[in-house]
Amino acid sequence: RCGFVAIVGRPNVGKSTLLNRLVGQKISIVSSKAQTTRHRVTGIFTEERVQFVFVDTPGFQTHHRNALNRSMNRTVSQVLADVDLVFFVIEAGRFTDDDRKVLTVIPASSKVILVINKVDQLKDKARLLPFIDEVRQQREFTEIVPLSAEKGSNVAALVRAATPLL
Ligand code: GDP
Ligand code: MG
Repeated sequence: RCGFVAIVGRPNVGKSTLLNRLVGQKISIVSSKAQTTRHRVTGIFTEERVQFVFVDTPGFQTHHRNALNRSMNRTVSQVLADVDLVFFVIEAGRFTDDDRKVLTVIPASSKVILVINKVDQLKDKARLLPFIDEVRQQREFTEIVPLSAEKGSNVAALVRAATPLL
């Protein structure tokens, strides 16, 4: 199985940390050369049975509702409509207005895995379930995976969840 994956989320949720965790050293090799005609490739994760090709999205504009920013967000939506799977990354225990704005840019037809990152920071693990319920009110997600990109915990579960979706 093989497909294009976009990692999206507001600044600082841990997108780069997750990408690095998944693709490791290969990221530098790929970003200098391999580009597809449709996408800018930022890294490739390869295992025996699956390959995720991670692609870049132009930056989200969450602050100003002017014509240029609306146009940039349309471009983001077009890129997302063209990938096979979206990882929507948020921080455990913190769902902000900027997270909501990023969600509005993801097309309704996209397959989206909600990645709840930084679970290592969550002091009270019992808060995770009500938090998941809160976020699920905003949109249907194909899968939901709590993990810690920094510690590497449960990242394998993300790979397992994503594989059958490609
Ligand atoms: P990006 O802006 O979404 O690409 O976020 P970064 O990957 O640059 O991470 C932002 C900050 O969050 C950095 O200081 C990371 O070290 C930290 N971070 C990322 N993942 C985790 C995690 O799983 N746990 C904790 N505690 N911190 C994390
Ligand atoms: Mg980053």
